[in-house]
Amino acid sequence: MAKQRRPNKYQRAALAPQPDVTRLANGGARRESRSGSEWFVRDIPGHRAEKEYACPACSTGIPVGQAHVVAWRADDFFGDEVAVRNRRHYHLHCWRLA
Ligand SMILES: [Zn+2]
Repeated sequence: MAKQRRPNKYQRAALAPQPDVTRLANGGARRESRSGSEWFVRDIPGHRAEKEYACPACSTGIPVGQAHVVAWRADDFFGDEVAVRNRRHYHLHCWRLA
């Protein structure tokens, strides 16, 4: 009788999604198309904006306490984990115009 090959616990851990990715991807993110790319977008309300970010669309800062969006590629060649790590923060109006 052939013994079934099953991934050991280390292999299973490597296959499991990273908690950070899961939290971001499932934490109210929506999917949007922008200029031929798929993105995950999440609203950051003012009270959750605890850091200043540089908006890549207009190159000016997003001040602490200002509601904005965080976006990352949904179709990143390198996968969700890399995409989430490369997420960018946009002004609400900049993302709408993007
Ligand atoms: Zn901007």
